Amino acid sequence: MKTVSHAAAAEIFIKDEPRTDWHDETLWFVRQKRDKAAHGLPEWELLRSWASQIKDNVLSNLDTYLIDFEKKAQANGIIVHWAADAEEHNKIMLNIIQKNKIQKIVKSKSMLTEECHLNEYLLKNGVEVVDTDLGERIVQFRNEPPSHIVLPAIHLKREDVSETFHKHLQTEKGNNDPQYLTEAARQHLRDKFIQSQLAITGVNFAIAETGGFVVCTNEGNADMGAHSAAIHIACMGFEKIIPKAAHLSVFLRLLARSATGQPVTTYSSHFHKPRPQQQLHIVIVDNGRTKQLARADFRNSLKCIRCAACFNTCPVYRKSGGHSYHTAVAGPIGAILNPNMDMKANADLPFASTLCGSCSNVCPVKIDIHQQLWKWRQVLAAEGYVATNKKIGMKVMAFVFSKPKLYQLAGKMGRWVMRTFPALIQNKFNPWYKQREMPTPPKQSFMEWYEKRR
Ligand code: SF4
Repeated sequence: MKTVSHAAAAEIFIKDEPRTDWHDETLWFVRQKRDKAAHGLPEWELLRSWASQIKDNVLSNLDTYLIDFEKKAQANGIIVHWAADAEEHNKIMLNIIQKNKIQKIVKSKSMLTEECHLNEYLLKNGVEVVDTDLGERIVQFRNEPPSHIVLPAIHLKREDVSETFHKHLQTEKGNNDPQYLTEAARQHLRDKFIQSQLAITGVNFAIAETGGFVVCTNEGNADMGAHSAAIHIACMGFEKIIPKAAHLSVFLRLLARSATGQPVTTYSSHFHKPRPQQQLHIVIVDNGRTKQLARADFRNSLKCIRCAACFNTCPVYRKSGGHSYHTAVAGPIGAILNPNMDMKANADLPFASTLCGSCSNVCPVKIDIHQQLWKWRQVLAAEGYVATNKKIGMKVMAFVFSKPKLYQLAGKMGRWVMRTFPALIQNKFNPWYKQREMPTPPKQSFMEWYEKRR
């Protein structure tokens, strides 16, 4: 199936202007909450530097830390699996499910399983998974992917949720009361937890020193699943490793504040070994991460702790919605990670940015996000993944910009055309004009103005 480009998908999203404004304002509200929480901590910048340095150390010593983690986890009774790619990850999961004759599965939020398209794979093999994060359950009912890594249903209004629950949970038609809707979801999910035989969770941090791991949720759904099922499988991208338990204090303080402006995530649950009679598995996944690690300009993107602060601040994300990115991880960090997985399919994403740098400013682990977006554009152009008209346009502009006299002449002609034949510019064939009003051309250029006053 051909993927719709970011620009084309965004065009569909922004047609609904009130929804676009509401989406923009809601995420900006989350960004402001993050600011307040961050400014409340005098040591905020110090924490960011420490987090960045710890992750630098991790990326340079991944081989050691991962093996340490495996040894410790195995000694604790955890069964460790390694997956080179999404396909192997999904096969491992299916194998555990089939071997144990499992039919009832619950899953808490895990962007890795979204990245690997686990739900679709299991469904094709006759196994249904119930997502238990409220936002994820809503989008699952609607057969949509999450649009945000922390707030999966942020593109939906309460009327949409009411409609969805009326259809799937038989709630009262038109009842948009959030408490009523949440209670309906609670009762529905409670049943699923009680019946579940196997729980899948993500991993926020895996600790090399102890072989344990931490899962953060605000709803407690990962704990409900892991504590009621006889089998718990935790899935992690290999960059989730941190060296010591002491480092958790740095990351947990940064994560919650950057994600939602909370001082701490409601549940930060530590798992170290299986309960008696329980199986605890952990699947460690590469899926392109080694390749990204080898790209000197982009390896820092593996420091990401998936807080989504860069989403909430990005003017392009806020105005275009998460689905326009057509990948599991959207937003600025998704635009860096996804071209590594498939350059051709995701060549549009690094261009979905104003390069304003706001993403880099808020990133708790100091990833130079906007610099990497800019570097990806260069890589994509060199690899031939930029549209021919854009390539020609850029060449012409580079030539004109390098010749001052020609540049001045082009400016003069442009201003004359805009004044005399505005229809040549202001028409539907000019993509720049589609969403903008063209400025009134000035009578003279800055150069002319400057020359007169010199
Ligand atoms: S890149 Fe930084 S700001 Fe964006 S999700 Fe990752 S950690 Fe958060």
